[in-house]
Amino acid sequence: MGQDLPSRTEVIVIGGGVIGCSISYHLARLGITDTLLLERRQLTCGTTWHAAGL
Ligand SMILES: Cc1cc2nc3c(=O)[nH]c(=O)nc-3n(C[C@H](O)[C@H](O)[C@H](O)COP(=O)(O)OP(=O)(O)OC[C@H]3O[C@@H](n4cnc5c(N)ncnc54)[C@H](O)[C@@H]3O)c2cc1C
Repeated sequence: MGQDLPSRTEVIVIGGGVIGCSISYHLARLGITDTLLLERRQLTCGTTWHAAGL
């Protein structure tokens, strides 16, 4: 979203649909917070947009 990307991170998750957001969320719940979620357009803009879940 126009922000500078960090030079390093422990985990990179590609895709900000329900699966990518869920992975990031559950990693955080496990204490893994050095996580970068990369979305090429806008969060939930993919098929997740059609589903009510996220
Ligand atoms: C019409 C329709 C109705 C549906 N209705 C329901 C429903 O009622 N209930 C239900 O449970 N499920 C429903 N589904 C299914 C559900 O939407 C999908 O199974 C689910 O959204 C898949 O999530 P995802 O995270 O795998 O993919 P997506 O939501 O598609 O997310 C993938 C993301 O990755 C991004 N991306 C792709 N390539 C890159 C890249 N190179 N770099 C960065 N980002 C990238 C995309 O922009 C996108 O945001 C429906 C699907 C459709 C098509």
